[in-house]
This record gives sequence, structure tokens and C-alpha cells, in this order.
Amino acid sequence: MFPAVILTITKMAKIDKPLYIAISLDIDPDANSAVEGRHDALSHPLKDGRVSIEACKMGLQKTFDLLNKYNIEATLFYEARTAQMLIEDGLDLPKLSERHEVSCHSLKHEDFLGKVSGLPMGKKSIEEVVVKAREILKKMFKREIKGFRAPYTRINQPVVKVLERLGFKYDSSETVSFGAEWVGNPFPLEAYDSGLMELALPCFYDTKGEKMSSYLWAVFEGRRDFGEYIDAVLRVKDMANGGLFIFSTHPWHLYVDCTGRPFSEKQARSNLQNLEQILSHLSQVHGTQIIRQDKYMEKWLVKQIPQSLQSDPVR
Ligand SMILES: [Zn+2]
Repeated sequence: MFPAVILTITKMAKIDKPLYIAISLDIDPDANSAVEGRHDALSHPLKDGRVSIEACKMGLQKTFDLLNKYNIEATLFYEARTAQMLIEDGLDLPKLSERHEVSCHSLKHEDFLGKVSGLPMGKKSIEEVVVKAREILKKMFKREIKGFRAPYTRINQPVVKVLERLGFKYDSSETVSFGAEWVGNPFPLEAYDSGLMELALPCFYDTKGEKMSSYLWAVFEGRRDFGEYIDAVLRVKDMANGGLFIFSTHPWHLYVDCTGRPFSEKQARSNLQNLEQILSHLSQVHGTQIIRQDKYMEKWLVKQIPQSLQSDPVR
């Protein structure tokens, strides 16, 4: 009986610490880009001065269908302006987003750091933008907004300080190499003198030793095969120890490339098939569990309490 007990405990310990996987969507304008001289983003081609959401709308509907088909709860980083435009265009976003987490991806995809715009934003204007975006999303979806992903995944100290002051529970903009030193655990943004927790995006290496990001754009641009992303998960899952591996995608990227050029019908079909393959495989990998980022954060916080009690000698 004794060995059986040990076996059960070992099994439980393994099941207890899967590699958690999050599927996140950055829901923003088609083929968007920062523009010199203005804070907000426009869609390519920039000379048209337009913001378009046609591809985003089609891609988002298809992505929702696939998430439902594979019973996946995702994290949706909404740019508030895009969410408003999608609703005006007839999408019932609150209903479609019901089972997913709704998080914030800025108001109009602001270039907070001014890297392209040439206009770095100060704390006050960053705060105005984030407060407004969060209010719009709160009203639209009738729930608390806990997470934030910065446009272009670019943050600095003023951005982080604003998020912390506004009570966000986590940021998810940094990219960290997944490996021996970091296996996907949340960490405080001490580099920005902040206690705000970061759920970082992983980068990793393919079998040839080339660096990959967990953004799926390279699949849609025909530069990578869906299997490379599944391989990456298989390679890292045993070192995960309860860490989180976040995938990200832009719904518009199923239908237009980064320069706003529409994909051929054949390419769009293949993009959709690739996305389906990724979701279907990820939902079946043994020793992993797909989770929303807010639920992962809650789980992780609960785990921190017993650990701190254990380390307290008085108890
Ligand atoms: Zn974005």
C-alpha cells in the first residue's frame, strides 16, 4: 500500500504543476502602426490617414468560433476605440466575450514612449488615456478590468506607475526568455521601481537555435509552421513548474499582412487552418492547462499565501 500512496502523491504533484498556457488576443486596428507626430495609431497604408477594422472584425469572429469549438477561455486585450468601432459595426462584443477575460490595450493604441511619434507622453496624459480606456471597457462589458498590455508591448516607468496607481492587477507587455532562469512565473516590475505584477510574454528558441516569439504573426506571414509553436510547448513543459506560457495573436492578421495588404483567399484559408491547428493541439497537450490570465494570477496569488505562512516560524 505504501508505494501506491507514494505513486499517488507523485502523480498529484505532477498534475498540480502543469505548464499553464494563455491564449491572448490584441484586438486593435488592422495592420496598425505608430505615426510620427501623433500619439495614436493608424492602419496601413498610413497615407490614407484611416483606422480600419474590417479584417479585425472578420478575424475576431473566426477566432471566437474556434475558441468555442475547442472550449478555450482566452484573454482579450481590447483597444477601447476598436471595441467601440466593432460594436458600432454590429458585433455583440459583450456577448461574444462573455466567457473570456476582458483586459485593456490602451485607448487608441498610443505610442506612450514616443519611439515613432517622437512625442513621449508624460504621466498625466498616460493616465488620462488609460482611465478613459478602462472606463469605456468597464461600461461596455460591465466588469472589472484587471490586466493591461501596452501598444507595441512598450512600457516605461511612467506607464507602469500609472497602471499601479490605477489598481491594475497585472501588466503583460514585457518579453522574457523562457528557460532555466525564468519559467513563466509572475514577477514584480522592480526594474521600474514598482510592485505591479508582470505576466511576461515568452520568447524561446526553435530546433535550429533561432529565436522565436509567442506572437503568431510569423505563421500568418508564412514564415513559420504551426508545429514549431507546439514543439516549443512540448520542449518547455517539463521545466515549467506551474509557470505560464502566453500566446498572442492579432485577429486582423488572419486577413491582412503587416502592411495592410489583403491575403489571398488561399492564404487566408491556410491562416485559419494554422490557427485552428495551434488551438486544437494546445488544448490536447498532456501536462498543460489553458487558462485566462486573470484566473492564473488569482491561482498564483492564492499559492503565495500558504508559502508565506509556512515560512513564518511563529506558526
Ligand atoms: Zn496592439
